Amino acid sequence: MLNCDRATFLISQAQDQPLSRAERYRLALHLSICKACRGFQTQMPFLRRAARAFAKADVDPQAPDSGESK
Ligand SMILES: [Zn+2]
Repeated sequence: MLNCDRATFLISQAQDQPLSRAERYRLALHLSICKACRGFQTQMPFLRRAARAFAKADVDPQAPDSGESK
């Protein structure tokens, strides 16, 4: 059985490259019993977009419109 560390690793890896059949099977099995990792998988595309946008953005702490996040 996968632990959550391994499951989340596979979920993020699956964004970049197809998993092997065995990996997909074990991941699906883990997701069927683990709500936390299902949530992680749901959030993954958003997290990746946010991380990419954040890496790209040249954030200026002095910018007047930087008070959006509370
Ligand atoms: Zn899990």
